[in-house]
Amino acid sequence: MKCPYCQTRDSRVIDSRELSGGESIRRRRECVGCGRRFTTYERVEQGGLMVVKKDGRRQEYDPAKLRQKIRVALTKRPIGEQQIDALLQRVEADLLALGTLEVPSTAIGESVLRHLRELDQVAYIRFASVYREFADLDELRRELEGLELPAGPAAN
Ligand SMILES: [Zn+2]
Repeated sequence: MKCPYCQTRDSRVIDSRELSGGESIRRRRECVGCGRRFTTYERVEQGGLMVVKKDGRRQEYDPAKLRQKIRVALTKRPIGEQQIDALLQRVEADLLALGTLEVPSTAIGESVLRHLRELDQVAYIRFASVYREFADLDELRRELEGLELPAGPAAN
């Protein structure tokens, strides 16, 4: 398992925890090279991650397809491939943290939105408008207003 910071291949496990469904294990690792810590998720290979769509159909999780959708949302935005990689890793970590091999497509969409919102708000709105299928302009406007809310309590 390569260290994401310095690419050293040696790390030692400092903590292991089985996740809720018992189908995956979260491990905290410490890199032997640089001493930094990172998290890995281990799960049974059989079947891999399945996506359960809204209509109940199942499909194998396809990171390439998801990446393509994210890339479309990021068209002409100043976001590099490495940042997209990092975003996909965070989404996958979210999915594995669910502790089940069958994840609802909504969980994927919401996870992408959460991380995209931190990364690039324009791309976030683009992705949200496709994913959430905004019914009308009012709904889109509310979403945009939500982005502009100050982090703390309102000043007025
Ligand atoms: Zn390292």
